[in-house]
Amino acid sequence: DISISVLFQDELMKPLFRAGIIALIISFFIGWLIARWITRPLEKISAAAGQIAGGDYVAVPIEGPEEVRQLAGSFNEMIGKVEDSLQSQRDFVANVSHEFKTPLTSIQGFAQAISDEAITGKKETKKAAGIILNETDRLNHLVNDLLLLARLDAGTMAIEKTDVDVSLIAENVLERLRFLIQNKKLKITKHLDKLVLNADGEKINQVITNLLDNAIKYSPEGSEIGLSVHQEENSGVIEVKDSGPGISKNDQKRIFERFFQVDKSRKGGLGRGVGLGLAIAKQIIIAHDGDIQVTSQTGAGSTFVVLLPIHGKTTTKNGRKNNTSG
Ligand code: ADP
Repeated sequence: DISISVLFQDELMKPLFRAGIIALIISFFIGWLIARWITRPLEKISAAAGQIAGGDYVAVPIEGPEEVRQLAGSFNEMIGKVEDSLQSQRDFVANVSHEFKTPLTSIQGFAQAISDEAITGKKETKKAAGIILNETDRLNHLVNDLLLLARLDAGTMAIEKTDVDVSLIAENVLERLRFLIQNKKLKITKHLDKLVLNADGEKINQVITNLLDNAIKYSPEGSEIGLSVHQEENSGVIEVKDSGPGISKNDQKRIFERFFQVDKSRKGGLGRGVGLGLAIAKQIIIAHDGDIQVTSQTGAGSTFVVLLPIHGKTTTKNGRKNNTSG
């Protein structure tokens, strides 16, 4: 009996016990490896997230199990977006400051000159006052444009939709810009169909004004501008065509960006070109679930086409569903 129990203890239990211990150690080790495989990339993401608070945007390596890799991918994508957004915010502030600085310097200079009596005489003083008024006007327009954009961005700018006839709005804009058109001896070819849309008349007025103002501004003297309002399938269409310098393919991608100007040195038209007109037009059209496009070739004029939904349906010229994001 005793010998059997000793045999059982010595010959069977000991090796079994040993094997159990070894198995336990191995499984702990494997468990530790797996845990490390998961936690190490997570620690890296956590550390990178901590660095964001300090203004440091570092991407994390894509490693570990699939779910963690996905998390790291999303994290890197988020970092990229935050960086882009910060950069455009910085650019925006720099642009705004620059646009304010020029008129302010001029106002200050002329006011100082009047105050120091460096400018005397009725005629000279009147001229200086005229410049000050002009620059103030420019600042006023700039502030209004920026406020409008900010409200459109925040969605706090109420789009007050009523049934409006776009062709009447277009006539109205033409009438208001008549002097600019006459000054450059431009010929307006218009095709204005009655087009009743549920839209914010004042905002549509602003879009047509911005497009026509550009067409006038960039057209050579004596050339022709086409203005058309009509319906195509489910879209109301506003088309402004000029025979100006045109816009290169590369610039076409950027002209709807805030403050983008192909040629910063060229000013004219209503005398308030800062590169916000098309950005505003685009925001207004997006708020109407519409679309705005440009077709142009360098040296061969430009055509801007606005598409607005009729009966709440949004379609593009080719009948495709719209994509107005961005
Ligand atoms: P701006 O106040 O400078 O006209 P916009 O936002 O209206 O600003 O236009 C942005 C830029 O797009 C302009 O500076 C100009 O370079 C280009 N652009 C706009 N419309 C036209 C056009 N009809 N012909 C040629 N270039 C144009």
